[in-house]
Amino acid sequence: MNYEEKRKKLVNNLKNRDYPVLTKPEVIKAMLKVPRHLFVPKDAESSAYIDSPLSIGSGQTISAPHMNAMMCEYLELKEGDKVLEVGTGSGYHAALCAELVAPKNSKHPGHVYTIERHEDLAKKAKIALKKTGYESMVTVIHGDGTLGHQKEAPYDKILVTAASPKKIPPPLRNQLKDNGILCIPAGSKSYGQDLYIIRKQGEDYDSKRITGVRFVPLIGEFGFES
Ligand code: SAM
Repeated sequence: MNYEEKRKKLVNNLKNRDYPVLTKPEVIKAMLKVPRHLFVPKDAESSAYIDSPLSIGSGQTISAPHMNAMMCEYLELKEGDKVLEVGTGSGYHAALCAELVAPKNSKHPGHVYTIERHEDLAKKAKIALKKTGYESMVTVIHGDGTLGHQKEAPYDKILVTAASPKKIPPPLRNQLKDNGILCIPAGSKSYGQDLYIIRKQGEDYDSKRITGVRFVPLIGEFGFES
């Protein structure tokens, strides 16, 4: 089976799970398009279409595909959105977001800003994004994502792919547009977290718990200590 066929099979499995993780046509299209195998280390390529996290170096992981799909769906990503991702990792999730906010031939393309604290991963993600054609839609920044990225704020959507402490980093809440959505796992550093969808409404933040999750920790000024 070639990689495209494996990708189709994975997407079908995600669509047919008892707990709905992949339902929206535009997210399905993005998951079918982005070549996950080109974002993982060579020796993990053959496992790229298994629904599992994989090691990407620097002690970090690329999340399982069902988690990528779920987060994209809950973020309600749409053409033209300006997105901030904290935790670039491999760059795969940023590419998925780019497919949704800046699809091919888009008249109003959005943009994805993504921050990674490990310089080596940020460099590798940049290379993978260039190789797969997402370079112009995604800006990779090396730094502490708990501070957000004030220069391009406010954002329509903010995606955090590492586990935050219960107190959500204030810069991320502040850099959200009115009616913007923040998707973030928060809880303990090592023993699991809850995934939250937080919508900014004027001065208020409406927070909804989605499910229990397990992410690597968010390390930084407003995150955990390393
Ligand atoms: N979204 C990634 C992908 O598609 O491969 C997976 C992200 S991985 C689960 C979490 C990433 O968050 C790790 O690469 C980790 O180094 C990064 N990270 C942790 N704390 C961070 C911070 N304060 N700023 C930026 N990145 C951070």
